[in-house]
Amino acid sequence: MVQKNSRKLALEEMFGSCPVCGGELVKRQVEEILRGAQDTAILNVEAMVCQRCGERLYSEDTVRGFERIRANLARGSVEGLEPVGRAYKVS
Ligand SMILES: [Zn+2]
Repeated sequence: MVQKNSRKLALEEMFGSCPVCGGELVKRQVEEILRGAQDTAILNVEAMVCQRCGERLYSEDTVRGFERIRANLARGSVEGLEPVGRAYKVS
């Protein structure tokens, strides 16, 4: 019987090369902007960034976090988020 390795893979172990262009991926802290109905959340997260096309790859946990925040923003909930300033729209 093969024991499945349940250890969480590090981000760099999950992705070998860019799935879009095959380019080299480098682990970076990136800023991701999530938009809801009215509010916007800015997150600093770890991602693998393609050096060639700029594609960003995130861990499952990070993607789940995005989904949770997006769902909250869509409902107008900013629970757990810290206000950092105002956002303006240029008309
Ligand atoms: Zn790429």
